[in-house]
Amino acid sequence: MTESGMAASTALTGSTAQLKFRDPVRGKALAKALEKVTRDVGRAPVSVMHVCGSHEQSIAKFGLRAILPAGLNVIMGPGCPVCVTDTPEVDEAVVLAGDGVRIATYGDMVRVPGTMKSLGDMQAEGARIDVIYSAAQVVELARDTAEDVVFFASGFETTAVATAAIALMPDLPDNLSILSAHKYIPPVMEIVAEMPGSKVEGFLAAGHAAAITGYGIFERFVERHGIPVVVAGFEPLDILAGLVELVQLVRDGTPKVLNAFPRCVSREGNRNAQGQLWKVFRATGGRWRGIAHVPNGNLRLRDEFARLDTRKKYRIDLRRLWNHAAPALTQLCVCGDIMAGIAAPTDCPLFGKQCVPDTPVGACMVSSEGTCKIWHQYGGVPRL
Ligand code: SF4
Repeated sequence: MTESGMAASTALTGSTAQLKFRDPVRGKALAKALEKVTRDVGRAPVSVMHVCGSHEQSIAKFGLRAILPAGLNVIMGPGCPVCVTDTPEVDEAVVLAGDGVRIATYGDMVRVPGTMKSLGDMQAEGARIDVIYSAAQVVELARDTAEDVVFFASGFETTAVATAAIALMPDLPDNLSILSAHKYIPPVMEIVAEMPGSKVEGFLAAGHAAAITGYGIFERFVERHGIPVVVAGFEPLDILAGLVELVQLVRDGTPKVLNAFPRCVSREGNRNAQGQLWKVFRATGGRWRGIAHVPNGNLRLRDEFARLDTRKKYRIDLRRLWNHAAPALTQLCVCGDIMAGIAAPTDCPLFGKQCVPDTPVGACMVSSEGTCKIWHQYGGVPRL
């Protein structure tokens, strides 16, 4: 580990009593180190990408873009699970709700637009939509009713683990099934790295996902693409320290994986959680909203769990939605380009005008991890 990396890590891993993840003095020292190492690269801009909405939220909330070096371009990647849930996946839940099936899902998913409607629109028309706060709550809900309950389950591997845990519970009620829209992050990094004209020279990986998978999962990616990966946490100092490490690796031309979040992430990750995840799910190719097809990017229930699979239990005919043209405004949404790292919210003509958090036109304005909502709430790149 380099000297500035050591300084950063010391700030983060000192005695527990002294942990100050928002300490402005340490923040300024890390910002200075970042400025220096970015300058040392000897060209501009240096472009790195974070793949986590929680990183963007911290960057915006704590005003970190105001202290990032001018020569460092921190690109927002496809790190919002709500945003990357593809339109046909939302449509499946919308069709089922229209057919009178009770849908339980996490709050943000209710407002994500499908081709014609969101689950919120269906609720306004009388459909039974339940907002849940944990996967376990769905089981309680199904036990308390005679109606069929579909769990519209979204999120990355961190959330998929919770879905897997309920799928493995004994004595699950027969009226419960799972409509999986879960996504798996590592494959989408391959897609971004291979995009023609990609400027990404390093990835800041999400600490919570790596707590499950372990940072070792990125080693083959680094070997294949020669692009460094640094795993970082979500406090301002975590992010600054992670960026210092990442730009050092870019400067030195030494692609490897570094763990800047050692208090939560190990090389192996959580083996127990991985065991549950892969016992219930298999990775398969599928679309991510705006990113197109991602090989092995979708998590779907294994055949052994077919009895729980909504797609096997119901015949979901989406054609009735697709016979209509999408509303004109949604065709102007550039959410997909934002998640691919080639546009910013301010590139969208609807940002802050027709599209605001109360009346979102696209998925990126719905979730607290969506870049458009974050920029609307906290501002994006400050003009200093
Ligand atoms: Fe889509 Fe709204 Fe973001 Fe524009 S501001 S890209 S319409 S989510």
